[in-house]
Amino acid sequence: MTILVFGKTGQVARELQALAAVVALARDEADLSVPSVCAAAIEQYRPRAVINAAAYTAVDRAEEEEDLANQINGFAPTQMAQACAARDIPFVHLSTDYVFDGSGNAPWRPDDRTRPISAYGRSKLVGEKGVTEAGGRYAILRTSWVFSAHGQNFVKTMLSLGAERDQLRVVADQIGGPTPAAAIAQACITVTDQLAKDSAKAGSYHFAGAPYTSWADFARAIFAEAGLTCDVANIVTADYLTPACRPANSRLDCSSIEEVFGIGRPDWQAGLSAILQDFKQKDFDQ
Ligand code: NDP
Repeated sequence: MTILVFGKTGQVARELQALAAVVALARDEADLSVPSVCAAAIEQYRPRAVINAAAYTAVDRAEEEEDLANQINGFAPTQMAQACAARDIPFVHLSTDYVFDGSGNAPWRPDDRTRPISAYGRSKLVGEKGVTEAGGRYAILRTSWVFSAHGQNFVKTMLSLGAERDQLRVVADQIGGPTPAAAIAQACITVTDQLAKDSAKAGSYHFAGAPYTSWADFARAIFAEAGLTCDVANIVTADYLTPACRPANSRLDCSSIEEVFGIGRPDWQAGLSAILQDFKQKDFDQ
């Protein structure tokens, strides 16, 4: 019996496929905008565990497409969770720091009050509630600022802009933990294995990279690691308006996942070095 992964092309989904023998379903095999396909896929594959790495992640576009975001991020994972609970198999679902409003400076704990300030955050919270209510051997892993060598992410945007420009203005008043997708994939597998043995570990957890940083300092680290000379000027969020609001304080307190599952926070600088080495190696090979 295999692990079934919803999502095939995303950052975390690709790392899951690199890490373990999983069956990963692309959008044309299971379109989450039709939530009933989720239970049907679980019925068809009869997996030993399910990981949901698919999501509507276009944060700004979600302001215009909240119903669609709710289907994909809310009702589809609810159906997955119900099907997994009925079969008594582990279900790991990824969620986000965007379920919080970003107030204060303290790292958010898993049971802190949620109050999303964007349509994307609200849709992810619908999913969290559905998964929690379904019960069973579930884990919700909230993560933040995901990056990898694949797909769309801040590291790749900075590498491309930093190669063209002498200076970039980057937001310095949003603080969070950049998280390598490879570390999330490893955490998902570890959690899945432990949930299979101990259903008492079910619940919501935080998993994000250390140390906390700002987008501006993250950009500086990317340029330093890549050997780019682009200068970074700090700006505030109010000077970089986007359709969706983003939390200023995205610090996630990850102590409970360490206590319960023995999973520590990943060092994002090491993760950044690894993917830049990967890029250099690919250039070298070509
Ligand atoms: P990506 O944006 O890289 O990938 C999203 C995946 O979802 C893609 O495989 C995409 O497929 C798939 N998908 C989107 N819509 C549908 C649909 N209707 N049916 C089936 N599949 C669909 O996501 P990440 O790997 O970055 O994120 C993984 C998880 O982490 C998500 O739950 C996300 O909410 C959460 N997260 C991500 C953060 C980030 O910075 N990226 C931050 C915090 C949390 P396709 O290629 O067809 O579009």
